Amino acid sequence: MTETKLKIKILGEAVLRKKAKPVREVTDEHRQALSQMTKAMYAGSGVGLAAPQVGLSLQMIVVDIGEGLYKLVNPKITKKQGIQVNSEGCLSLPGVSVKVRRAKQVWVMAQDESNRSIEIQAKDLFACVLQHEIDHLKGKMIIDYASFLGKLRVKRKLAVLKKSKSSKL
Ligand code: ZN
Repeated sequence: MTETKLKIKILGEAVLRKKAKPVREVTDEHRQALSQMTKAMYAGSGVGLAAPQVGLSLQMIVVDIGEGLYKLVNPKITKKQGIQVNSEGCLSLPGVSVKVRRAKQVWVMAQDESNRSIEIQAKDLFACVLQHEIDHLKGKMIIDYASFLGKLRVKRKLAVLKKSKSSKL
């Protein structure tokens, strides 16, 4: 195993529910965190990861749906269009998937790791992942989109997971 220094937080940890703080200026520390987040995302075979998921309450996300890596700081959705519904998973909710209704297309403003402003136009899966990760920065998770019964099912699954100490996430 490569040493991923950052451990992925699982639902139940307070940091996942906190509003992440904006980053005033991207420094070497942030760049280092972004690169560790990237490693953690790839190690978990995820397509996106938000800083709160590794215990950092900062507005930073990494996304790679197989079309290149994006490291985004202070990402904000400026426009949404259309609807898509996908079954989504989350590295902070292992073994769980929830059907989530989101915009089909989004426009996102952010800074890159060199403090440059960038605008991204995304659709389909890319748009879905961006919305999922930006939700994390607001303390929102896919379980919040589940029905009452869906939530119960997720909680039961996670309780079982906690009991089996074998989960090395
Ligand atoms: Zn997630």
